[in-house]
Amino acid sequence: MKINEILKNKKVTVSFEVFPPKEWAKLADTKKVISEMVKDKPSFMSVTYGASGTASGYATEIANAIRKGGISPLSHLTCLTSTKEKIDSVLDGFEKNGIENILALRGDIPKDFVMSENQYYHNAYELVTEIKARGNFCIGGACYPETHPESHNRVEDIAHLKEKVDCGLDFLTSQMFFDNGVFYDFLEMCAIKGINVPVIAGIMPITNAKMIRRSVELSNCSLPKKFEKIMERFGENPDAMKQAGIIYATEQIIDLMANGVNNIHIYTMNKPDVAHNIMKGLSAIINE
Ligand code: FAD
Repeated sequence: MKINEILKNKKVTVSFEVFPPKEWAKLADTKKVISEMVKDKPSFMSVTYGASGTASGYATEIANAIRKGGISPLSHLTCLTSTKEKIDSVLDGFEKNGIENILALRGDIPKDFVMSENQYYHNAYELVTEIKARGNFCIGGACYPETHPESHNRVEDIAHLKEKVDCGLDFLTSQMFFDNGVFYDFLEMCAIKGINVPVIAGIMPITNAKMIRRSVELSNCSLPKKFEKIMERFGENPDAMKQAGIIYATEQIIDLMANGVNNIHIYTMNKPDVAHNIMKGLSAIINE
């Protein structure tokens, strides 16, 4: 099913994410993760894509495994390091295999990457335009409540976001954030700018202290005092940190829903137990 129909038809949606294996030999492990995760009946499941296109071979296999579990897949696709021929062939494959949902991304700039004169793709809107021209895909894009790290300022970032949405996006999924106030401000900015597609709130359950440092460094998102205190107190105790991270994410989602944000994406990072514990904490809330 297309994600825009799911978002339209369901009062509340909670989606999960998996990343593909680095090698074929590990594909069975990823499929096992998926078979565990689908038991919690997420509204859909997204599959990440290597910034340099390394994961393209797995997209169909993984989408099929998700569908087999009765859940709609959303395949990510990055373009920066790709050629038009490569993207055309991936899109042909998606069409042939019935993959109807794509999260269209530029991709992070790999270390040591040099833009060539013949660079075909520069930003995600170019990919969105091409996918839209095919006519049949439901297309999502990324957005950044605390501004994309490469942007000079928020005004510029939102202006680019509006252009990208106008190229044919059906929905947006946000970068992770740990302070809901930041997300509410961002939604207001989107409304002022006339960005009217659904914005799915991206929630990252932080289950170990190392992970948060790396995530914050890469994504430019800020940590509220409350979360820093949790890390100070429990960061060295893996079990306690995991439990606190799951509860923090669950509370974030409850607050979002109480404030009318009904579409949540959990960056589940191939951790079915984390996904399950959050869903358990929301059981009556999401079925309300
Ligand atoms: P863009 O929309 O192109 O934006 C990138 C930057 O360029 C922004 O600063 C923007 O303001 C600016 N910009 C946009 N248009 C223009 C323009 N016309 N002129 C000048 N500047 C412009 N990465 C992966 O490799 N694989 C994944 O599977 C993946 N999944 C993700 C899922 C989500 C929900 C999110 C939030 C991010 C994901 N990423 C993934 C990371 C993403 O690829 C990076 O954040 C990347 O740096 C930007 O991608 P984008 O699609 O947002 O790019």
